[in-house]
Amino acid sequence: MKKRKTWVFFYFLTIAGVLLAAQWGSRAVTVIAESRPIEREHCIVIDPGHGGEDGGATSCTGLVESTYNLDISLRLNDLLHLLGHDTKMTRTTDTSIYTKGETIAQKKASDLKERVRLVNETEHALLISIHQNNFSDSRYSGAQVFYAGTEGSEALAKQLQTAFVASLNPGSSRKSKKSDGIYLMEHIDCTGVLIECGFLSNAAEEARLRNAEYQKKLCCVIAATVSEYLSNT
Ligand SMILES: [Zn+2]
Repeated sequence: MKKRKTWVFFYFLTIAGVLLAAQWGSRAVTVIAESRPIEREHCIVIDPGHGGEDGGATSCTGLVESTYNLDISLRLNDLLHLLGHDTKMTRTTDTSIYTKGETIAQKKASDLKERVRLVNETEHALLISIHQNNFSDSRYSGAQVFYAGTEGSEALAKQLQTAFVASLNPGSSRKSKKSDGIYLMEHIDCTGVLIECGFLSNAAEEARLRNAEYQKKLCCVIAATVSEYLSNT
């Protein structure tokens, strides 16, 4: 009975939190979330892909991917805090987190190793890496989730992909996929997903990904799905 009450409480807290965040969309609400006593079993590591000298892909409007990744990740971090989760970010500013290297390639390798270290040193971590897609053919659009080979990753990716299709990309036939060849995803020990939020090469989707309201909606979908996933593990 106690467990059921706790679950019901958490469920309503989640819904209320998502609604509040969607309504206010303000980073100030973090203060409210942090003042609330909660039981934190997991630490959600949010990884805004690229940063600094490594901008990632360039959008059809000339903006670099790292900017979209950071904006969305900061919003997601605030929302997850509001929902009572413990979180950690691999970067909070437009910077690369390498510790050594002379060339761009060496710095990039060091940056990725640092990200792996930050994830693997975190107890009970769950990784959400945020990226944007890009393709030579501008027709393609839609979010896609890639998963690590670690326990729980595929299940979480499937839940996220289903939620994206239902809430953001109706009619999309995109499926979640194993993240083969992605260094970070191949070296983490915990459950982890990499979300390509959309295509920067598609003008309509790029405009949405830059839009604050769409970013809030995207983060609400991610936060609610991850909360649900964690409440069932
Ligand atoms: Zn990327």
